[in-house]
Amino acid sequence: MKIYDIIIVGGGPIGIACGLEAKKKGLTYVIIEKGPIVNSIYNYPVNMQFFSSSEKLEIGEVPFISKEPKPSRSEALEYYRRITTSNKLNIHLFEKVNSVEKNDAFFTVITSKNKYQGKNIVVATGFYDLPNTLNIPGESLQKVAHYYKDPHFYAGQKLAVIGASNSAIDAALECYRKGAEVTLIIRKDEVGQRVKYWVRPDIINRIKEGSIKALYNSTVVEIEENHLKVQTLKGEIRIENDYVLALTGYKPNFDFLIHMGIELSDDDKKYPVYKQDTMETNVQGIYLAGVICGGLETHKWFIENSRVHAKMIVNSILDK
Ligand code: FAD
Repeated sequence: MKIYDIIIVGGGPIGIACGLEAKKKGLTYVIIEKGPIVNSIYNYPVNMQFFSSSEKLEIGEVPFISKEPKPSRSEALEYYRRITTSNKLNIHLFEKVNSVEKNDAFFTVITSKNKYQGKNIVVATGFYDLPNTLNIPGESLQKVAHYYKDPHFYAGQKLAVIGASNSAIDAALECYRKGAEVTLIIRKDEVGQRVKYWVRPDIINRIKEGSIKALYNSTVVEIEENHLKVQTLKGEIRIENDYVLALTGYKPNFDFLIHMGIELSDDDKKYPVYKQDTMETNVQGIYLAGVICGGLETHKWFIENSRVHAKMIVNSILDK
């Protein structure tokens, strides 16, 4: 069996950047991705616009041209797909990595389709696969979604959006503008401070004028077929409801890291342990790349500041 220099788990922007860098430096590599190319971005809301300008999303020094300074999801799909195909990157799609085992000299990677061996592993699995769930009765009803795709579906419907960060606020505004009757349910007493600076005034004004209803200091305690029970400062209320978008964030797959032997910090942030200068974890030969590095602090790493991981990792492997 072929032994790769690097096996990259995850074909998001940063996994692809790692593959590109490995190829440039003459290392053998394979990227294994459980979905299509840049699966997370593919699953973002269809009308999503990045908060970063396009040059900050560039990888491998390939120019990213977009119509406006901040590119759309479809422009990003085009960009990362073209990088992958025109560089003929060795990427295996729709193949999930189930386990990574360390033997004496190398790692064995078992996937849904195959078995691989490599001297080094790069884990670039992001955080978009596992939503933070509410853990309340009714959450499994069909009307509840943890991912938002398109506003059209919600036109004319009583839609509750749970959350106060970018995903929730973008969804609330978009659905309101396509005719949904939107109620935002916010645990704290304000719209999140990290909401994009050009979007925050929009939502605050829509709430002030009453176009979008907001329940602050409120938590949904039960989801019923046609209603929601919400705990507010004034006690429990029951509101009419057709659909729920529970957009309360996402988290990395910690079990996957733990099974590989990667240690996590003891605090509630669960930062994976890695060396800041090389990205190598406590397991020699396993590296972390991209937004997975932030543990539960999923706002710490972006494409913008994590694309440098590709060079750091490949240089560290070459130095060995
Ligand atoms: P991901 O893109 O999440 O890639 C991880 C990949 O690993 C996925 O394709 C996944 O399918 C795959 N995978 C997971 N587990 C396995 C497995 N076991 N086997 C095989 N494959 C696996 N960042 C910015 O810099 N600017 C922005 O404007 C920006 N906007 C964002 C907007 C939204 C709505 C969200 C959610 C995030 C945004 N980010 C932005 C944050 C971040 O940059 C992106 O999440 C980016 O996609 C992270 O890149 P990544 O390669 O680290 O992870």
